[in-house]
Parts: sequence; C-alpha cells; structure tokens
Amino acid sequence: MESAPFGRLKDLRSVERLVLRSHQLEVALLTFGATIASVRTPDRHGRVDDVVLGFDDLDGYLGPHPYFGAVIGRFANRIAGGRFTLDGEEHQLPVNNGPNCMHGGTVGFDRHVWSAHEPRDPDGGDAVELRHVSPDGDMGFPGELAANVTYTVRDGDLRVDYEATTDRATVVNLTNHSYFNLAGAGSGTVEGHEMRLAASRFTPVDADLIPTGELAPVAGTPLNFVTSQPIGAALRTGAEQVVRARGFDHNWVIDGADGSVRLAAQVREPNSGRVLEVWTDQPGVQFYSGNFLDATLAGKGGRVYRQGDAFCLETQHFPDSPNQPEFPSTVLRPGETYRTSTVFRFRAVTG
Ligand code: BGC
Repeated sequence: MESAPFGRLKDLRSVERLVLRSHQLEVALLTFGATIASVRTPDRHGRVDDVVLGFDDLDGYLGPHPYFGAVIGRFANRIAGGRFTLDGEEHQLPVNNGPNCMHGGTVGFDRHVWSAHEPRDPDGGDAVELRHVSPDGDMGFPGELAANVTYTVRDGDLRVDYEATTDRATVVNLTNHSYFNLAGAGSGTVEGHEMRLAASRFTPVDADLIPTGELAPVAGTPLNFVTSQPIGAALRTGAEQVVRARGFDHNWVIDGADGSVRLAAQVREPNSGRVLEVWTDQPGVQFYSGNFLDATLAGKGGRVYRQGDAFCLETQHFPDSPNQPEFPSTVLRPGETYRTSTVFRFRAVTG
C-alpha cells in the first residue's frame, strides 16, 4: 500500500490518499469519507481509464457533492421522517432529504476522516483497513458505533469488508456510494451500458422515495433487468415508479440472498468491453442511474457531470428498514458484530 498527503481540512487535519494495486487494477482511496477516489482498469485493448466519478483535489470532496465514492453510514438511503423506534424508545435523526433522513444525516460517515491501518487479516491482496468511531447520539443514532472498512485489491477484484460493533442497541446499514462509468468517468451517458440484476423483485417507493413495504415483481415493469438490458432502454417509458425517481433509484431484492456472497449485478459497456460484476452478501442493491446529476459539478479533468453520466450499485439492507418490521432486520446489539462484504469485480471482454 502506498500513502501520500492529499490535502488538509480547515482545522488542518490531513487527509491521505492511499493506493492499492494488482496487475489489473489500481484503486485510490481517501481517508476522508473512506472514499474510493479512482479505479483505473484496462479496456479490451489494454487502455487504462478511471471508471469512477470524483474530483482531482480535496476541495472538490469537501464541497457539496452527492457522495462520490464515499462510505455511507450509519444508515444507507432513507429513513422515513428521520425517525424510528427501537426497544420502545423513539430516535429523531436530521431530516436532510425532503421529509426524510438520507445517508446517515447531515454529517454522515462520508464527511469524517477515517484512520488507516494495516489490515488485521491480510488475505493475499493489497489492502488497507479504515476505522471510524461514531459517538453515542451522533446524528441522533443510539450507541457508540465503532466501524471499520477494509478495502482489498486482488486481480480484478476490489473487495469491501465492513464491520461494526456498538455499546447500545442501534441500527446500521453501511454501503459504498461509487458512481461508475465503464467507458471512463466524464465520458458521457451510461444509458448504453447493458445491465443484469439477479433480482426478480424490488421495493416500490412512494412519492418521497420511501418503500411502501411491498416486495413487487419486476416482471412486466421497466425495472426488469433479470435479462440484460441497456440502462437507457426503459428510462422514458413514463411508468410511475420511474417518473417518481426521475429514473432508476430503487432497491432491488437480490434473489436467493442467504447471507453468502453471491452475484447481484453485472454491467457491460459495449465499446470498451469493460464488465463490472457486483457480488454481495446483502439482501438488496440500490441501483441509481445518476438522475440528480445536473451539470453543476465539474469533476476530474474539469469534466462536467450531467444526468445519467454514471450509475451506482449500493449493496445494502432495504431502505427504511428501522420502520419496516417485515424487512430483514438492521438492528445491531452490544456483543454482536455487524459484518458484510461486497466485491466489485472488473474485467474486459472482446465482443
Ligand atoms: C439515493 C438517491 C440520491 C443519491 C445521491 C442514492 O442512494 O437513492 O436518491 O440522489 O443516492 O445522494
């Protein structure tokens, strides 16, 4: 692992840029937000490009932006009304997305400097463990939560292992919010990328993008990616779910999820031949088609990011789980360890 200073916060704390390498992959991480800052990987001709959106310098990451590459905590996606009850006690979180709490509140895990450590159990790849302790009551969440995220690069795999423990019952749902464009960050729309999701159901949302509680079949809807479809094919069909989210911004229910790591998504970019597979032990994946990118941010190399210029595949427990008793539980109690893994697998294919 290689480490270099990337800049300083206003309070002068320094942010490091860490680089993990294999012969197929070079991944740069920031200690700010435990962020994936770049993923450099070859296309079918061996031409290397950076396939994630982000910024060239720390100032970009410190300014407002939609979580480019960051770890999301304590709770991925939305919690209705920013409120939930656990063991009879009500907890109020910041409301930062319409009437809801999104991505852990106003100052989530994406806005903290994590400490970098040698991984405790290196398993052969180039790896780093990033740690962050969130105090009791942080953003309204109960319990002191000690979180760590280990990034490992090996061959074409970028593996992300999350762990957390608490000293009081709480809820937790961690993910990474990378924005991918397999033709290269800033190269244009991802509508031509072809995607398959191993999910025959999704969680439909209301007008505020909160799940209704139903697990609905994707069959016969524009959300059907059971067989590979171009991301752009059904974006303009006028279906209510797609209109509500201004595109795709839903949680798909991964078929057969049983806690083991399984293939959740496969995306292929036809021109470069790059393929991304997402493997996870989580029951859900938020496929977000970059709907709210609006040409107000200039990222790496000064490229302006427009609607649909990237996609996110955020592996997770379902949004609003703390208020949805039928959804898989996101409760973590003292003595338990929250442990989840996601692998982003890159390769390039001809044809
Ligand atoms: C949410 C979107 C949001 C995006 C960026 C996604 O996880 O579902 O609604 O716009 O993150 O904040």
